[in-house]
Amino acid sequence: MRRRVSILGATGSVGQNTVGLLLAQGGAETYQVVALTGSGNVALLAEQARALSAEVAVTADPGRLAELEAALAGSAIRAAAGPAALVEAAARPVDWAMSAIVGAAGLAPGLALARHGGVLALANKESMVCAGELMRRTCAAHGTRLLPADSEHSAIFQVLRGESAGEVERVILTASGGPFRDWPARRMAEVTPKQARAHPNWDMGERISIDSATMFNKALEVIEARELFGLRPEQIEVVVHPQSVVHSMVEFRDGSIVAQLGPSDMRAVIGFALNWPERRALPVPRLDLARLGRLDFSPADPERFPALRLAGQVLELGGLAGTVFNAAKEAALGAFLIHAIGFLDMAVLVEHVLESLGPEAAACGSGYDLDAVMALDAEARRLGGLWVEAFSGK
Ligand code: NAD
Ligand code: MG
Repeated sequence: MRRRVSILGATGSVGQNTVGLLLAQGGAETYQVVALTGSGNVALLAEQARALSAEVAVTADPGRLAELEAALAGSAIRAAAGPAALVEAAARPVDWAMSAIVGAAGLAPGLALARHGGVLALANKESMVCAGELMRRTCAAHGTRLLPADSEHSAIFQVLRGESAGEVERVILTASGGPFRDWPARRMAEVTPKQARAHPNWDMGERISIDSATMFNKALEVIEARELFGLRPEQIEVVVHPQSVVHSMVEFRDGSIVAQLGPSDMRAVIGFALNWPERRALPVPRLDLARLGRLDFSPADPERFPALRLAGQVLELGGLAGTVFNAAKEAALGAFLIHAIGFLDMAVLVEHVLESLGPEAAACGSGYDLDAVMALDAEARRLGGLWVEAFSGK
């Protein structure tokens, strides 16, 4: 029996790497590909769906249905479009799924994937940040195994294999520090989206690359780590490690620190989740430590990178504070991308929105549903939009 698999966000950076690995491991002969989804890049989506003989291809953009249908003409692949079709496709039963849509848009379809009872490889960290407890609850109710597809969390997961969670003292998330690691704040004020997009070590989508430059990505990952591994705020530390070779570490109560090292190549992370619980040969470069010569570590600076300080506030607030944080961050990033606000304004904006909605979000506690998350997400975006107007002097 071929393993049934789906990939949400197949046309993105993580999605394309996942498609590549499926093809390298036998493609349609090994896997029965159920659903592939994308958004703007319909030609690529159709090409992927043909290469893997997918059952259905869905674009999130309803205006592109005709284009997708035309690109799939003559094949047996069904085309669909729009957010509802996306959730419907995600609900088709599979044994393994990759959740790799960017942003909170990945939450509703990700929840549908969590109901399959197979393996859910999670690159869409925003769904854990926005609604970690709901994701965990849904996975638990359906016997779904959640595997992180984020390099730091995959590292922690790999280190914890065979260990007992009660013996963990803390986890140490490594951060490259992004392109502005050593820049003074006043220099960062002038940064353009083009400069912020250029990550020194990883080749990733535009949004996560800019989030790495502000360290909002690390802030999201701190919250993601709490949600995935059930940690207390004081058990999570961030350390800057410019080489991105040590992907993260766990310190145990006997003082031992165990690290996972590897190339800065997402295929290693995705391949681990794809083949789990086995390890198979993967088409990734190998590390040559002697040639590398050194690994550097330094403290993270929450003064120059306030996103890290705000992540601490989100952990302390609990409830749905992560929803507000992520939605405000997405609004700020969208405004930065169109040059409406500056690089440093992003964190200021998020802080304002968190100040306004934090208490309400904290009061949501646990046991909330998707509607509550989406309502708060919308409210945070609305407030974020008002701050964008205020910042840009409109
Ligand atoms: P990307 O921008 O390259 O791709 C995003 C995908 O989501 C595309 O397929 C796009 O079509 C789809 N998409 C965009 N907006 C959508 C919407 N509104 N509705 C439905 N689909 C939509 O992003 P990426 O870099 O591949 O990142 C994907 C996720 O994985 C993010 O959550 C990111 O934080 C996480 N992640 C990425 C990397 C990486 O190396 N790129 C590493 C770790 C985690
Ligand atoms: Mg990461």
